[in-house]
Amino acid sequence: MLAKVKTVAAYMEELAPSTIAMSGDPVGLQLGHPEAEVKKILVALDPGFDAIREAAEAEADMLVTHHPLFYNKIVSLDESNPSGHLAAEALRKGMCIFSAHTNYDIAPRGVNYRLAEALGLPAEQGRVVEVTGSEQLLKLVVFIPAGHEDNIRGALSRAGAGQIGNYSHCTFQVPGTGTFMPGEGTDPYIGSRDRLEKVEEMRMETILPATRKKEVIKALIEAHPYEEVAYDLYPLALEGGSIGLGLQFELETPISMEFILDKCRVTLKAESLRSWDAGKSSFNRVALCGGSGGSLIEPVVRQGAELLISGDFRYHDLKLAQAYDLALVDAGHDATEWPGVVYLHKYLEERLKADRYETGVNLQTSVSPGWK
Ligand SMILES: [Zn+2]
Repeated sequence: MLAKVKTVAAYMEELAPSTIAMSGDPVGLQLGHPEAEVKKILVALDPGFDAIREAAEAEADMLVTHHPLFYNKIVSLDESNPSGHLAAEALRKGMCIFSAHTNYDIAPRGVNYRLAEALGLPAEQGRVVEVTGSEQLLKLVVFIPAGHEDNIRGALSRAGAGQIGNYSHCTFQVPGTGTFMPGEGTDPYIGSRDRLEKVEEMRMETILPATRKKEVIKALIEAHPYEEVAYDLYPLALEGGSIGLGLQFELETPISMEFILDKCRVTLKAESLRSWDAGKSSFNRVALCGGSGGSLIEPVVRQGAELLISGDFRYHDLKLAQAYDLALVDAGHDATEWPGVVYLHKYLEERLKADRYETGVNLQTSVSPGWK
């Protein structure tokens, strides 16, 4: 069975909710019909002619990109201008285009998290530089046969549930009686077919960030002894952890400029690498931002950063950083966002496979050839 455009959009919404995008950013479905079936997806950084060409050659009919196709309001598809030509070309090739832009920058495990991982920084420990909102939280309630509580609590916690501030494994449980009658084709862990069972069970509840839903439910189902796991999941009005632009790290062991430059060269495949070390050779307080980081110079300075790694720094950004003694590494807009694009490919491939769709997923190879 093939996934529909709306299925892919729902997976993307889980990873990078459109509600957290910066205001005015045109994220989501840019071109195409939500009900259309998708044979193959091409994941790319930009919805450019090269991506459309590569998608068409691979018989892909959907592009999932980080940068949107349309930044401004469309009043015509005049093909004498590049964006009109691009949109018309995608339509002629029967291509749908979906973009997750600032919502994927801001998402707790989005572009900056993936950049931190690629640079060998402790991604989980990053603190948001410029807060734009808070994470959506979910409540999970699950019914567990007595004796399995610790095992399931451990699995849920490892997958990211039950974290409140610096307290992990936060759950609440009460005993009760679960009932069920195994029907035809079942292989029950407890009881036998066509007989009403009454089992001593625990109702366990915990919280989780919405972006961890997939991992937590997978861990629950793997750890739970029942063939059919009974659980409820509902949204909370509470505010979760901060989300926003950029990540900053307090490193116990300082990292050297050579280490960062080497990572940018080897792992990010940065082709145009520029740096200013502010007269320092190693750094404990390191900030990063995928894409263009010039606007974060003053926020990271206020938070005590010694080094900012990003892309697209202009001459005046360098002057400002020099005035603050802030070291800069400019690894390029595309190179700093590419780890996020690579993750999108992996994420969609896993989601489609888990739901048994035959829709394929390719990662663009006609740009950034070092990344596969
Ligand atoms: Zn960008």
